[in-house]
Parts: sequence; C-alpha cells; structure tokens
Amino acid sequence: MGKVIAVANQKGGVGKTTTCINLAASLAATRRKVLLIDLDPQGNATMGSGVDKYEVENTAYELLVEEKPFADVVVKDTQGKYDLIAANGDVTAAEIKLMEFFAREVRLRNALAPIRDQYDYIFIDCPPSLNMLTVNAMSAADSVLVPMQCEYFALEGLTALIDTIGKLASMVNPGLGIEGILRTMYDPRNRLANDVSDQLKQHFGEKVYRTVIPRNIRLAEAPSFGAPAMYYDKSSAGAKAYLALAGEMIRRGEQTQAKKQA
Ligand code: ADP
Ligand code: MG
Repeated sequence: MGKVIAVANQKGGVGKTTTCINLAASLAATRRKVLLIDLDPQGNATMGSGVDKYEVENTAYELLVEEKPFADVVVKDTQGKYDLIAANGDVTAAEIKLMEFFAREVRLRNALAPIRDQYDYIFIDCPPSLNMLTVNAMSAADSVLVPMQCEYFALEGLTALIDTIGKLASMVNPGLGIEGILRTMYDPRNRLANDVSDQLKQHFGEKVYRTVIPRNIRLAEAPSFGAPAMYYDKSSAGAKAYLALAGEMIRRGEQTQAKKQA
C-alpha cells in the first residue's frame, strides 16, 4: 500500500523542497511509483521538477477546492519519472477557500483515497507555516519527514515542531508518526553542526536518518535547470546523498514490514 509522507518544518529554507524533489527522483530511479504533491504556493517543487508554474493548467487548487478528478490534475516531471500535483499562487486562494468547507481538514485525504494505492510513495511538500494546507497534509499523511539544519536552537525548534505535530495528529489523524529526521546542508567541518547532530541522535535515536545531506552547490543549482540533481550531475555529492537516503528509506520500510509480519 502507498505510503503518504508529509515533508514539513515551519522554518523556511531548511531543505523541504530540495528533499521532496531529489527523493522523488531517487525513489523513481529504483522503480518505485512516486507522486509529489506541491502544497506551497511558491511552487518551488513544481519549478524544480521542470514544470512551469505559470503555464500549468491545474494545480492543488483544482484538486482541493474544485474537486476535479485526480487524473485531470496530475502531471509528470520533465523527465517523466514521477507524477506531480503542481502549485502556484492559486494555492494561496485554496488556503482561504478551504475555510468555507465542511470537513476542511480532510480535503486532501479524501482526494487521495481513491489513488493512493497506485503509488509506493506520496510526498507532500508543505509550506513553511502551520496553515490549513499543512493541516490537510498532516491529516492525509501516514508520517512526517522533518528536514533540519544542525544549527544553534535547532533542537528547541524541533521539539516545538514535534509537539505541534502531536497536537495536530490528536485532532485530525491519531495514527500520524514521525517518519524520520533528516540532517540537511550538513558541513562536517563545523563543530557546532557536529554537536547538534550528536544531541539529535541522543534525543531521537533511530528516528534520525543515518544518511546526511551535505551542503552541495549542485543541489542548489539544479532547480534552475528544472531537474533533480541526479539528472543534472549524477556524480555530485548531493545527488548521491539523496540516492543513499532513498535506499535507507526502502530498507527501513522493509524492516517495518518484516516486524509487522513476525
Ligand atoms: P525549504 O523548502 O525548506 O524552504 P529549500 O529546499 O527550498 O528549503 O532550500 C532552501 C535553499 O537552500 C534553496 O535555495 C536550495 O536550493 C538550497 N539548498 C537546499 N538543500 C541544499 C544543500 N544540501 N546544499 C546546498 N544548498 C541547498
Ligand atoms: Mg519549500
């Protein structure tokens, strides 16, 4: 059955979108069926997948507000490797329009219900705020993947975020768990980053992915070419790190499956 993962952190610029695009491409490269849902009106995941947010006909707005059929709204990334629900400024209107609906928290969950089994992984790129779009993502998801930078105060922010996720979950989605915590833009020469990383492992143990995403210029450049880093520079440290993360996710998933069956 398809796993729905919300990629969230209230903080902007921590690598949510970069993680969504590159993880989607990496899992697709291992022949997994992947859907990426862009829920950020900035449309960075859309542009980074090579889809022009100004030209695209349908977005998450049509899915969430107009209830257009999923098949009419879904598009493909430029490499044709994964499916995408696009976003642009219209999605800001969706956030406001959602307020008018009954059961507004579960619009996304309901829209995905008929198609989620067509995918192995569904990623939701959340906006950097806890608005109704993020609530929709959290209520549609099985789990939350939290990208974070190992900076001063990062741990404090993370504890607050996990607290909020817990509260949200108890209201709209009691089964929601933490998928994993991902260290992004990591610089191993930075002592503070190493200290924060150690604390993170102490607090969150196995939830912290072993794979670390290094600060890598190719990851920052790739969106301007409208492609995940692996199609722009396959041998870059960034592309390799996200491929390794995809492998770790698949292994973790298999281990959980095995435990369930045992
Ligand atoms: P968010 O979606 O959380 O706001 P982004 O994924 O858009 O964060 O990343 C913020 C900025 O940092 C973008 O310009 C992106 O290209 C860049 N970036 C993200 N991850 C890395 C990385 N590992 N190395 C270098 N630059 C990165
Ligand atoms: Mg983003």
